[in-house]
Amino acid sequence: MSTSQIGVVPSFIAGQWQTPEAAGGTEVLDANTGELITIVTGGKLDIAAAVAYGRGVGQRELSSLSLHERALKLKELAMYLNERRKDLYEVSYKTGATKIDSMVDIDGGIGVLFTFSSKGRRELPNSNVIIDGTAEPLSKDGSFLGSHIYTAISGVVVQVNAFNFPVWGMLEKFAPAFIAGVPTIVKPATPTGYLTEVAVRMIIESGILPEGSLQLISGSARDLMDHLDYRDMFSFTGSAATASRLKSHPNVIDGGVRFSAETDSLNAAILGPDAVEGTAEFDAFVKVVVTEMTSKAGQKCTAIRRNIVPAAQVDAVIAAVGKRIEERVVLGDPRVEGVTMGALASVEQMHDVRAAVQDMIDAGGELGFGNLDAPVVRVAPERDALATGGAFMSPLVLRWADSRNPILHSCEAFGPVCSVVGYDSVDEAIELAAMGAGSLVATVCTNDPAAMRTLTLGIAAHHGRVHILNRETAGSTTGHGSPVPHLVHGGPGRAGGGEELGGIRSVKHHMQRTAVQGSPNMLTALTGVWHTGAAQQLAGSEKFGAQPGNVHPFRKSLAELKIGDGLASDLRQVNQQEITAFANETGDTFYAHVNPKAAEANPFFPGTVAHGYLLVSWAAGLFVEPAPGPVLANYGLENLRFITPVAAGDSVRVTLTAKKITPRVTDAYGEVAWDAILHNQNDEIVATYDVLTLVEKEDTTYAN
Ligand code: NDP
Repeated sequence: MSTSQIGVVPSFIAGQWQTPEAAGGTEVLDANTGELITIVTGGKLDIAAAVAYGRGVGQRELSSLSLHERALKLKELAMYLNERRKDLYEVSYKTGATKIDSMVDIDGGIGVLFTFSSKGRRELPNSNVIIDGTAEPLSKDGSFLGSHIYTAISGVVVQVNAFNFPVWGMLEKFAPAFIAGVPTIVKPATPTGYLTEVAVRMIIESGILPEGSLQLISGSARDLMDHLDYRDMFSFTGSAATASRLKSHPNVIDGGVRFSAETDSLNAAILGPDAVEGTAEFDAFVKVVVTEMTSKAGQKCTAIRRNIVPAAQVDAVIAAVGKRIEERVVLGDPRVEGVTMGALASVEQMHDVRAAVQDMIDAGGELGFGNLDAPVVRVAPERDALATGGAFMSPLVLRWADSRNPILHSCEAFGPVCSVVGYDSVDEAIELAAMGAGSLVATVCTNDPAAMRTLTLGIAAHHGRVHILNRETAGSTTGHGSPVPHLVHGGPGRAGGGEELGGIRSVKHHMQRTAVQGSPNMLTALTGVWHTGAAQQLAGSEKFGAQPGNVHPFRKSLAELKIGDGLASDLRQVNQQEITAFANETGDTFYAHVNPKAAEANPFFPGTVAHGYLLVSWAAGLFVEPAPGPVLANYGLENLRFITPVAAGDSVRVTLTAKKITPRVTDAYGEVAWDAILHNQNDEIVATYDVLTLVEKEDTTYAN
């Protein structure tokens, strides 16, 4: 095919697909065959328009949805992409990825969407405001409170990604930004951005996302940062050198662009002193090392670069790793049956990796396994992979006479390459791991809990994640190199200092935390969550605050129920017979409830007292409205605290107030959290908690 027939990878800016005309551009080749597959334009892209569109249309459309509605859209999108995985796989092979590599990239990316969708709906309110922590009383009379809220940042997030995970790399950043309500402008790396473009095209064609929530820049776009200010965020993945250049841009230093980076990392795996050859841990270690060397041909920011093993185990580890590579690795075009390791992303990348290895050899490293000049693994026979101009490279293991050689701890050969070094003590292993100057992840492989604890606590401050491996997890681990959406992905120091993932924490990275101060009524109106001291519309006992004519809140569907609706009960007296009966009935005959002498000797109790669970049960009896109605179920209690003991002769009453109402986007009901507070006859607080119920959106009781 001539260059003129080859398409240019388009961008999606301001709702339009665009391919700016320009001479030249960067030719992108099939990593396995060297065939020209596409061109990335050198033409000027209108970044200012993309930023303006995101800040305007994107922000407006996203903010018209709640956190839950956006989370639900991620699930829809995940299901849509799931059905089109095959098409993505076909393109993915061209990047050198095997089927398993593509699963990590494509299925892994879709998995992130599913996880964030469900975590977003489970852990966040169905609103656009997230409350952080509990309110702080700032005045004696309770009329002035302080709290913290999170709201979406008001600009865009620009996501610049590395070449190694064209789909996952985009989706792992997009999911939390989208839930937060922040429009994304994604700029994939030139060598594999054509796969990102296919995924973005699918996403746009799905029509699931609100307009302006996702834009794509296909091109070098070196002026991206020039268009951003303090409203925006820049989330970078790639080399430390580029991160450092971007971080020193005046718009970051003076302009306040939020900058997060995930860069090179000299990740370590430490074999514990107990994990000698022949143990299950030794075998698990070797397995994980080979997986990390060969999956994505070692082009993973999380791959193990330094294996730190007991000095006496160095030879055994190198031999076992080499043996497993020889047994398992078949190098070649991933489209050929039986191939287990594909090409690097580009010939340039392969040259960079080989040059890095040569530098390490020149500085004192020795090849313990493999050969720079000829492959030592099987090569796919159907096609002479190595003669095709593909970016193939056989795995290499380096050994070191000097375990503190600086290059070993600083040079990242971003391919199927790792080093093995020996240590003499656990303290030395910790020191060696820390010489990576901040890493994304380390594996600690030992079956000795004491060694594990010393190693993990010793290295934790230098790492974003520690993967503890032993015989119990060898078969169930998600792997050293696989970031999971629930946990932090990022690391200190050289790893960039950012955190891309980490559950709901990463949604909040895209939000501003603001302290708010005001009256309980104002904070209730602001957050949609009832604050102690705010107005209540209580049914029940007028003696304890109910207003005449109010309907019991359990008779109200979500359509009728308002924050602050509630019930005040009358007092109920407690006697010892009831306490004793409850003790005998349940078997909870703890002395404080049934043995007056022993109870009196306890400094916390005036004598025998009612069980906490008895009080909670009485409270339910005091607030319940027993007839069938819109309340469907009680699914739990939260934050239960017993504060003042209740003795025979005392009385208790309950006040229940609708605190938080969360209609479920997908169901005919929602969740209501009720603030429950028990008082005694002296108005002292006996217990506090939240009662969690499911309530119908519309009352269907009488429709049946
Ligand atoms: P780069 O840092 O060169 O590129 C990463 C991304 O940044 C690409 O999308 C690139 O775009 C973009 N970029 C580069 N310069 C700028 C700029 N001035 N403004 C905006 N965007 C910019 O890294 P590479 O992908 O070339 O990989 C080089 C090394 O980075 C690897 O050898 C490895 O050490 C490390 N790396 C780390 C990864 C990680 O996940 N932590 C992943 C991959 C690589 P373009 O491609 O168009 O130049």
